[in-house]
Amino acid sequence: MLLCHISGGLDSAVALAQTVKSGMPTMGVHFYLGTDEHIIAASAIADHYSVNLETIDLTAFWDLLRDDKNKFRVHGYRSIIDQISLAYAEKIGATHIVSGEMDWEYGNGDLDKQFGKLMGKNTLEAYREIMEKQTALYNEMYKTDIWFAYPLIHLTKASTVKLGQELNVPFELTHSCQYADPHCGTCIFCKARKWAFKEAGVVDKTEYADVHSN
Ligand SMILES: [Zn+2]
Repeated sequence: MLLCHISGGLDSAVALAQTVKSGMPTMGVHFYLGTDEHIIAASAIADHYSVNLETIDLTAFWDLLRDDKNKFRVHGYRSIIDQISLAYAEKIGATHIVSGEMDWEYGNGDLDKQFGKLMGKNTLEAYREIMEKQTALYNEMYKTDIWFAYPLIHLTKASTVKLGQELNVPFELTHSCQYADPHCGTCIFCKARKWAFKEAGVVDKTEYADVHSN
């Protein structure tokens, strides 16, 4: 069994498409942070691939920790959801936790660029190295066999879009903006989404509120 993070965004949708293509039984998990657009998108993507989706509600935690409504950075956020994923993976008997992370992150605490700099390598590689050590220890202690997989780790967001197109990922179901529905068009998530489609030469059918921001 593979456990696939489904955030509702396009990266995790591509990772899910690739995972499902492998033919291994797959289950999805969504971490709900209070933004309905993302859970709606995650559910639609899971339905599209006929994958069961478990939702873990982190809204109380998220509201407690962040400084204001529009701030994304929560200290160690990535580690927190990965630790929960490990526990959940053990419960459902999953051997791998598939994550669509790639190395262009924008400050989710431990995936901040500074993290990689301090480790002397690319941020996600550095993070993966630490997680691998930790999961190896957990596996030995708990007699489990659970590992993290980052199939997009060496791709840019544009090459992820290209791969998604090859896999017929329904991008129209995905949601990247953290602020609005439809996409605001101006936040870093929307800008990255726009850039990726443009760079990949794939038609971007996303409806942006700020239509002049291209
Ligand atoms: Zn936006």
